[in-house]
Amino acid sequence: MDPVTIIGAGLAGSEAAWQLAVRGVPVRLVEMRPAQRGPAHHTDMFAELVCSNSFKSTDAYSATGLLKEELDALGSLLLDIARRSAVPAGSALAVDRALFSSTVTQTVSAHPLIDVVIEEATTLPDGDVIVAAGPLASEPLTRALTQLTGSQHLAFFDAAAPIVDADTIDHDVVFPASRWEKGQGADYLNCPMDRERYESFIAELVGAERVTLRDFERRDLFQACQPAEEVARTGLDALRYGALKPVGLTDPRTGERPWAVVQLRAENRERTAYNLVGFQTNLTFGAQDRVFRMIPGLEDATFLRYGVMHRNTFIDAPRLLAPDLSLRDHPRIRIAGQLSGTEGYLEAIATGLLAALGVHAAREGLAPLQLPPTTALGSLVAYATDPGTTGYQPMHVNFGLVPPLAERVRGKRARYEAYSQRARADMATYLCTRSDLFTAGARSRLRPPATPPAGEKRYGRSTG
Ligand SMILES: Cc1cc2nc3c(=O)[nH]c(=O)nc-3n(C[C@H](O)[C@H](O)[C@H](O)COP(=O)(O)OP(=O)(O)OC[C@H]3O[C@@H](n4cnc5c(N)ncnc54)[C@H](O)[C@@H]3O)c2cc1C
Repeated sequence: MDPVTIIGAGLAGSEAAWQLAVRGVPVRLVEMRPAQRGPAHHTDMFAELVCSNSFKSTDAYSATGLLKEELDALGSLLLDIARRSAVPAGSALAVDRALFSSTVTQTVSAHPLIDVVIEEATTLPDGDVIVAAGPLASEPLTRALTQLTGSQHLAFFDAAAPIVDADTIDHDVVFPASRWEKGQGADYLNCPMDRERYESFIAELVGAERVTLRDFERRDLFQACQPAEEVARTGLDALRYGALKPVGLTDPRTGERPWAVVQLRAENRERTAYNLVGFQTNLTFGAQDRVFRMIPGLEDATFLRYGVMHRNTFIDAPRLLAPDLSLRDHPRIRIAGQLSGTEGYLEAIATGLLAALGVHAAREGLAPLQLPPTTALGSLVAYATDPGTTGYQPMHVNFGLVPPLAERVRGKRARYEAYSQRARADMATYLCTRSDLFTAGARSRLRPPATPPAGEKRYGRSTG
């Protein structure tokens, strides 16, 4: 049997290699470290965690908790090793990073069907390939990918604005309208500000704590669009003449044009999530939580994703990727991990696993794996590979991506419980239909929810 070439032994590549090998498929795992090192990695080990040591919440009623259950059910090796390397971290799964990476390295390298090749991949080989070279993929490889997909489909910088849960926006304060009444009204929600609110918001925005960029990111930031706080720093009215301009908008409650308007744009067709237009930002997550809640209508908003600006190579997944993570125009090449346009350690593991199962299914002539869109992972893949998704920025799992419930459930906690229960049921049903890919044991690993932890908890936010 021809080996599958996997480029990159990071989180996605290591998981993918293992999943193929345990199904009897030989793998050629190409990793450039230590021969060649990227700007963020510091060790020679596989699956190095380049920043935080946290795999986020284990709460059964959070999207990341649910994703962990799904990965357990799908038989993830790396999540299992993460659990065995855990250090105390409250309701988060955090690991001893050296133990985690060394265990992954030993386990993957020791498999007789995995041939580890230490060299930099500079071209895309023939045959089945999984490209999992991460957000800092080396330059020759990104050139090869650009040639294959077109330069307009590869981005090198992630400048994402925060996204809020639609159900947590105060609809008594915001009003639906498009500028000059163009387009569908509810595509935009408008947060009206009077002069006083605007000026106190700007004062907090320019003074808030920012993330310190790494040296290799400064040049990219300079070339990307400006963060909102930098625009605000150029003058009190700079945002009012830019992203927050009120022209073409009338507040139906006052019949007047507000002093400034923060626009929220629908993030998906179901309008379950909205992004803050023009608010790409470098503020810390804590500062975003505090400052963006000063925006009228967002006082109690749940942030499904915070804004980020950092170096990040990723493809325009909605245009390029099929739901099995293969390139639509080159079906034997699959993209996994951060490069596929998903964000986060767990998501990288998950897409590595899916890409491997995709190769296996294709080689065996089985139906492609397509997880229900109600599940954490299925909803992420559905969103990322939906050609209707425009202006794509990398995404992590969150409940803003799942379809609305059949009946409206009041209260965030109750709603998230309902999403989780529905996902579990749909996943179990789906796995029953895929005995060709999964054993019955997989289904039994979908655990019932643990007792929710006591005390206040915000969902969808990073604990990393
Ligand atoms: C600076 C930084 C900080 C981050 N912090 C966090 C965080 O705290 N929490 C979080 O959840 N996510 C974080 N992320 C996102 C994080 O990168 C991903 O979540 C995760 O590491 C991606 O996994 P991956 O397998 O796609 O890539 P990686 O884990 O980066 O693995 C890619 C592998 O490919 C290798 N490689 C690259 N090019 C080649 C080539 N041409 N030939 C052969 N091998 C190659 C690399 O050496 C590497 O081993 C961060 C990203 C960056 C850049």
